[in-house]
Amino acid sequence: MLCLLLWPLYTGTASAHVGKSAALSSLPAPAGQYGLPFAASPGPDTWLMGQFYGNTTFAYEQRRSLYGNGQGMHFGLDFSAPCGTPVVAITDGVVSEVDGPHGSGPHNLVITHPDGLSSLYGHLLNKAAVKVGQRVRRGEVVALSGDSQETCVSEPHLHLEIRDHSHQLLLNPVGYLQADWASLGLADPDMDSAGFQQDLRQPGVWQFPEDQPGVRLHGPLLNNFAQPWPPPTPSTPVRK
Ligand SMILES: [Zn+2]
Repeated sequence: MLCLLLWPLYTGTASAHVGKSAALSSLPAPAGQYGLPFAASPGPDTWLMGQFYGNTTFAYEQRRSLYGNGQGMHFGLDFSAPCGTPVVAITDGVVSEVDGPHGSGPHNLVITHPDGLSSLYGHLLNKAAVKVGQRVRRGEVVALSGDSQETCVSEPHLHLEIRDHSHQLLLNPVGYLQADWASLGLADPDMDSAGFQQDLRQPGVWQFPEDQPGVRLHGPLLNNFAQPWPPPTPSTPVRK
């Protein structure tokens, strides 16, 4: 019953896009039940927020390319961290993929959790030193963070996703991870990629870290806005 009550609040306007399928409604609602993917406290020498999940301005710019398969949304959380930062499991589970087919290279890891959700840890430094089928506990080191550009000086960060077991639905991790998101959002001086894109015809929609739509892989774009703000760059024309 709790799940049924919370779910419409969480999905917000996204429910019109994703729908209330039986599979979706059976997934656990976000309740701060998981931990962060790092044991260390945030800070300039450890990790900071890089980009939130959802309708970020960066995702809007990349809605037809990098994030085209994810309805134009950034379908994970980015944590800026030096290469080699230990990554920990956000909750108990079983390793289901090491360098599996679900993207976020050069190396990734998927842990399946008994509550019906999975966590994907992406852009890892090297192949995770855990085995498929291995049980891991919340807080256990499972991998080392890397760089999506594989340089360790360009974009070193961890990309974290929350998925359903079918890998068709991607959910906003913010509600599931226990953290002071308001403070984390202010901590990174490089916040140009963490702001949210506006549609001036729907002001206020999807403007906060906790208020972002669920994503169905290969579904239609959610952010092909009629009147976007900031204005799109010339390389990303509106509605073409
Ligand atoms: Zn990312």
